[in-house]
Amino acid sequence: MIILLLNAGSSSLKFQVIDMVCEKVLIKGTCEKINSRKSLIRSRSFAGVEFIRQYDELVDHKDAVYHIKEIITDSKYGVIKDFSEVSVIGHRVVHGGEYFKDAVLIDDDVIEKIRDLIVLAPLHNQANLNVILICRELFGDKISQAAVFDTSFYFGMPQKAYMYGLPYRYYEKYNIRKYGFHGTSHKFVGEKCAEIMNQKIEDLKIITCHLGNGSSITAIDRGKAVDTSMGFTPLDGLIMGTRCGSLDPSIVTFIEEKENLSPEKMDSILNKESGFLGISGVSNDDREVLESAKNGDERSALSQEMFDYQIIKYIGAYAAAMNGCDAIVFTAGIGENQWGHRENVCESLSFMGVELDKKVNREMIFGKCGKISSPKSAVEVFVIAANEELAMARYIQKIFTK
Ligand code: ADP
Repeated sequence: MIILLLNAGSSSLKFQVIDMVCEKVLIKGTCEKINSRKSLIRSRSFAGVEFIRQYDELVDHKDAVYHIKEIITDSKYGVIKDFSEVSVIGHRVVHGGEYFKDAVLIDDDVIEKIRDLIVLAPLHNQANLNVILICRELFGDKISQAAVFDTSFYFGMPQKAYMYGLPYRYYEKYNIRKYGFHGTSHKFVGEKCAEIMNQKIEDLKIITCHLGNGSSITAIDRGKAVDTSMGFTPLDGLIMGTRCGSLDPSIVTFIEEKENLSPEKMDSILNKESGFLGISGVSNDDREVLESAKNGDERSALSQEMFDYQIIKYIGAYAAAMNGCDAIVFTAGIGENQWGHRENVCESLSFMGVELDKKVNREMIFGKCGKISSPKSAVEVFVIAANEELAMARYIQKIFTK
């Protein structure tokens, strides 16, 4: 089974073609800056053949899908002879609301539900839906389409964890609750962790830390996500590249009033001007902020300390929520590469018996994965590479083997 995975952003479209017989990524790439004069597509096949082309303009996502089809079937850059070799097109859909607890095959009903949820994730679900409709238009019924939702893993979260202390009518009227995001990644590394530990996930309490440009932490109690740091939107929880993370909600109305800001402007400040960038004033990229901190910039150092401190607090809280913790997993750009954050965090978790093998931890970077806790540690700690695309492809394949 060959699966084409599409991950649409408002001005980007990432793609991967995976052959599920051997779970091999045949080609992956990105269309960037769609609808601008600097549109760009780059891809790299398993054989190392690179395609990079600047376009005058990719007018819209339809253009992008058309070019992706051309590239993957191209005799020089491509990996399949004919597009009909693709069995399924899998779409990453950010918001599945209270509708979707698993990956699903897309039909009219699914499309209507994704449309319904645009109100909860305006930019993301709109872009995801557009690409689904484009694929329908271009490929008709000839190729099945499936959707994998970022929120699905949190479907069974207990109500006490997902409700906010607001009047209940807002949950009833607008579905305001915690949904959680990065679910595919947390589920994947949680399952991988159990596999490495050679134990059943049903016997484990795991805390997974997805630390990237967007960051979230999830408590997985015997295979089920029972709490997570992101909330109604991906803005909640940890301080991130440009997102503020958790705030006292009064701050929002206070700043809006003081600076006479529209809700849209305030939303943009919270999502795009905050986090590492907002505190340091240097960058949203952890590597650059860390470098700047090393060079003595105090605000850069502060943003890093805040990040570590918040991770420690979430892990402590989730260990308490689950009444125990057998394993902690670090994943994604920062989690997999920045050993300093892992060291700082784990040092403060000695109260729960976490003991890092510092040497191994420092070596576990740039794609290396494995255990970083010492044999004496009461909680095993791992670095596991995020692979959301492979996880998505596996969930899609499962639909056909049910
Ligand atoms: P996204 O949330 O956009 O998927 P990533 O998981 O790629 O983000 O993480 C990006 C973050 O990881 C950046 O802050 C970056 O500084 C950090 N990072 C640190 N080291 C590396 C590395 N070697 N490769 C990629 N990202 C890294």
